[in-house]
Amino acid sequence: MIYKTDAVVLRKNKISDSDVILTLFSRKLGKIRAVAKGGRKPKSKLSPASHIFVFGEFIISKGRNLDNISSAHIYESFYKIREDISKLAYASYFSELCDSVIVEGVTNNRLFDTLLKTLSLITNKVDNLELVKLGFQLKLLDYSGLRPQLTKCVSCGNTKFQRIRFDIHQGGLTCDDCFPNYSKNPIIINSTMVKLMQYIFKTDIITISKIKINSSILEKLNNVIDRYMGFHLEKKTFKSLEFLNTIKKI
Ligand SMILES: [Zn+2]
Repeated sequence: MIYKTDAVVLRKNKISDSDVILTLFSRKLGKIRAVAKGGRKPKSKLSPASHIFVFGEFIISKGRNLDNISSAHIYESFYKIREDISKLAYASYFSELCDSVIVEGVTNNRLFDTLLKTLSLITNKVDNLELVKLGFQLKLLDYSGLRPQLTKCVSCGNTKFQRIRFDIHQGGLTCDDCFPNYSKNPIIINSTMVKLMQYIFKTDIITISKIKINSSILEKLNNVIDRYMGFHLEKKTFKSLEFLNTIKKI
C-alpha cells in the first residue's frame, strides 16, 4: 500500500552509510517513522528531503516493520535555520518537543500548523526568540491537553487570590487557602505573567512574536514553563534544550 501526506521532518537517524530513518510529523497520520533509502548519499533523490525541518509531500509505501519513503516533493526546506546556530538550537528544541507529544495515527493539526508558522518565523526575521519559545511551549501544552489552569485554583476552584502562586506539580494556580495544604512547591508569580500566558493561549504565534515584553518577566516565565514541561511531558530531559542553554551562555 502506498500513501501520501504533507509532513515536516522532526528527526533523522542514521542506520547505515547510505540510509536514514526519518521521524515525520505528518498532517494526516501524526507521527510516522520511515526509511529514506540513500538519504545520506548526496546524489540520491531522497537526499534533499532527508534533513531536519524539511516540509514537503511524502509518498510512502507500507513495509512489514518500517515504512519506506518512495519520493518527496519539497515545499520548503527551511535551510536558513540550519545555517544559524542560534536559530538551529531553538528550532531543534521545537522539533524535539513535537516528537515527544505526537503519536502514530493521531493528527494534531493545530500543533502542525503552529510548527510550520514557527519555522517560517525563525527562517525570516524574528526579534525575540525567547518569546517565540515561550509561545511555542504554551501552545504545544494546550494542543496536547496539558494546558495549565490559570483562571481558578487548581485544587478548590477558588477565583480570589491575594498572592498568585503557580504550582508546577498540581498544574496551575493555587489559592491562599489551599497553600500550603495541597501545594508543596508553589512559585510566586504576578498578574502580568498570568495575563501574558492567557493572551498566548488565544493568539496566533506570528502575533505573539511581535509583542513588546519586559525581559525579566519573560525570563522568569520561561524558567517556570521549562520546569512545568519537564514535569508534565513524559520525556523529562531534552538534549536540544541543554544545547540551547549552552549556546545562550556564549
Ligand atoms: Zn484553592
